[in-house]
Amino acid sequence: MANYPSWIEEKDEVLWLTEDDREHLQISYRLKKVIFSEQSPIQHVMIVESDDFGRMLVLDGVVQTTAMDGYIYNEMITHVPLQLHPNPKNVLIIGGGDCGAAREATKYPSLTQIDMVEIDELVVKACKEHLQEVSGNLHDPRVNFIFTDGLAFVQEKEDAYDVIIVDSSDPVGPAEALFEYDFYQNLHKALKKDGILVCQSQSPIFQQAIVKQTRTHFEKLFTDTKTYTAIVPTYPGGMWSFTIGTKGNPIEPGRVHFKNVDTNYFNQGVFESCFTLPEFLKRLVPNH
Ligand code: SAM
Repeated sequence: MANYPSWIEEKDEVLWLTEDDREHLQISYRLKKVIFSEQSPIQHVMIVESDDFGRMLVLDGVVQTTAMDGYIYNEMITHVPLQLHPNPKNVLIIGGGDCGAAREATKYPSLTQIDMVEIDELVVKACKEHLQEVSGNLHDPRVNFIFTDGLAFVQEKEDAYDVIIVDSSDPVGPAEALFEYDFYQNLHKALKKDGILVCQSQSPIFQQAIVKQTRTHFEKLFTDTKTYTAIVPTYPGGMWSFTIGTKGNPIEPGRVHFKNVDTNYFNQGVFESCFTLPEFLKRLVPNH
């Protein structure tokens, strides 16, 4: 077997990827082959071909997005804020190296600037070359790739963006600080007066403390804050949460002028219903 990292194992001539980031839960994927495997200064970057999910992006042994269901997450993190904002022009994406969120943002003709601040250039290179089911072979001149730490980038920004999307990896390593109050405070400052911030806030099943903490941070900063969910089969627990805050009008999807976009998951009904939470989440993070 080639010299693969420890999360790839060969059993009976079949390759398996086992995520080992959780102490009491291991998820394994049967692979057809490894397409790309390199260490960057930030993390280990892999693109693998799996049996059930097609091609997958794997960072430090943890699956980030897949050809099979990447569109669900990327559409939900991008279209919800871009629909809620009445006239978005300037967008900032922090993280999002698979380019899926940037690709979804390019569907809005009103946008003039899509800044994508990704800490690891190798993730973008690997996804543009080997994961076009997600990256869409992005070549839109409105997308500016900036390869730096999102944390430092936003410290300098004020009144600059209509919508900010934090498409981060899990809160460990380089993404840990992307879940902290100081960071959200800087993002709030970087938004224009009607600006909207959205971030992925982890699993409502396994990471309720993060869901709650993110909501509490947002509520201290924004005039209106809500939590919404989508089903993403790749992510542990299946159900995934997003937290959104606005400096402007209250979050009322039923009252906005819906902009038509070409999608696979998101539509007006999903937009209006994604804020309806099941009982256990209503108790944790009630949407008023
Ligand atoms: N959708 C995926 C999920 O929820 O698992 C995550 C998408 S994306 C691949 C996450 C990206 O955030 C990675 O490419 C990672 O390099 C980037 N990232 C992590 N920390 C960062 C930071 N401090 N600044 C900018 N990008 C960061």
